[in-house]
Amino acid sequence: MSMPATPVTLDRFLTPAHQALWADVDDVAAQEILPRVDRMESTPTRVESKLARLMADRGWFGVTVPEAFGGMQAGHVAKTILIHRLARVSGAAAAILQASLIPVAGLLHYGTGDQHTALLPRVATGDVLMSIAVTEPEQGGHIGGMTTRAEWDGTAWVLTGVKAHVGNSHLAGLHVVVARTAPAGTRTSKALTAFLVRAKQRGVSLLRPGAKLGLRGFSFGQLSFNRVRVLPDDVLGEVGAGFDVAQFASIVYGRPNLTALSLGLHEAAVALAAKYVSNRPRYHGTLADVSVVRDRLGSMSARLIMARILTYHAVDMLDRGLSCDDELIAAKGLGHDLAFETGTDAMELHAANGLDGDYAIQRVWRDMQSTYAPAGTGEVQRLRLAGSLLQEETGESESARIPWSVLHAERAGRPRHGPPVAV
Ligand SMILES: Cc1cc2nc3c(=O)[nH]c(=O)nc-3n(C[C@H](O)[C@H](O)[C@H](O)COP(=O)(O)OP(=O)(O)OC[C@H]3O[C@@H](n4cnc5c(N)ncnc54)[C@H](O)[C@@H]3O)c2cc1C
Repeated sequence: MSMPATPVTLDRFLTPAHQALWADVDDVAAQEILPRVDRMESTPTRVESKLARLMADRGWFGVTVPEAFGGMQAGHVAKTILIHRLARVSGAAAAILQASLIPVAGLLHYGTGDQHTALLPRVATGDVLMSIAVTEPEQGGHIGGMTTRAEWDGTAWVLTGVKAHVGNSHLAGLHVVVARTAPAGTRTSKALTAFLVRAKQRGVSLLRPGAKLGLRGFSFGQLSFNRVRVLPDDVLGEVGAGFDVAQFASIVYGRPNLTALSLGLHEAAVALAAKYVSNRPRYHGTLADVSVVRDRLGSMSARLIMARILTYHAVDMLDRGLSCDDELIAAKGLGHDLAFETGTDAMELHAANGLDGDYAIQRVWRDMQSTYAPAGTGEVQRLRLAGSLLQEETGESESARIPWSVLHAERAGRPRHGPPVAV
């Protein structure tokens, strides 16, 4: 395995261990994932469980799990390297990994000691893949409007409802399901509870995966819960703290995960466009000699440099225990926008050939559409940043008192301004 040259832009964020991980993931992506990509594209409703096993065998599902439970305990920069470098080769592979790492955050930070002992070792090995089910078909990203309910029957919670677009819906063995547990009129911040639900439990069912625009091989489908009984031991966090579990997982883990996915696709688009114009004959040379084309390439390169800095700067802050909610949100929102602009440029540089499935840019461009909605749409990110700028308190959650990133540092037992070590 040869050590890749990591971009100098990122030098200040990467330790030798990060660089070794970068080399490892590039190696696996090139040798074992790339050969599967064409088949995944040609079978759009197939869920690629072998990819998950392959990544599990490397221990990557345990990247943020403490070593005491068999994990890598490698932190957020390391997690970003995995997702980013996988996404360069396969957005779907990166999506499979990142979608499971969001609920792992919920389990890590809100789970009890018993839940950790029982579940984390199997999560770390990838024997149990997790999902987090919050979004609903009608209410979408409006978490306060959710209708999935759990009612206490004296011995167990009885859970009923439907969740939509659940990442790894068809691969996960363990779902974190957020449901309403309080009477109507209760504030959202106190009205919801997170539950651990096994995929094989009675009353849990899956809708057949439909063909999506992109991320073929990844599943983000519907889950239905029909009077599923959940014992008190499987409540994740306090009863009434489901909003906090969902928000924490989404902001501290989900947003940087999606940012990393965008970055990998962004890099792929730039590389494909540069290669295409360099090989496409025009006049006495190639399209790469045409000044207007070069001008476009220059803009693409500038956006990629910005996206890299945004992405790694935010997760480095997280690893250092700094307050960085705004940076995480900005990186997610802008990371998608920058990648998308570059993706459009790359498609236009391919012109008619870009519409041909034989050219990889089409897959990359389709995959890019998938990073807008999850973990907060562009509008939601901008509304949050505006609220922060105007120093408004939402009063909705734990973060009204303390930023999620700071809460993360404190839950991880890390000093707020400590060294860039991993948890
Ligand atoms: C690849 C992928 C993976 C996903 N993984 C998961 C997962 O693992 N778990 C999960 O629970 N969900 C997941 N989702 C769902 C995702 O969280 C939702 O798509 C997101 O919350 C938005 O919901 P929606 O798509 O229904 O859009 P809606 O909420 O219906 O929004 C539609 C449009 O209205 C805008 N809008 C809505 N409300 C407002 C407002 N108040 N102010 C301004 N604009 C507004 C939105 O920005 C958007 O443009 C995933 C989605 C994708 C695409």
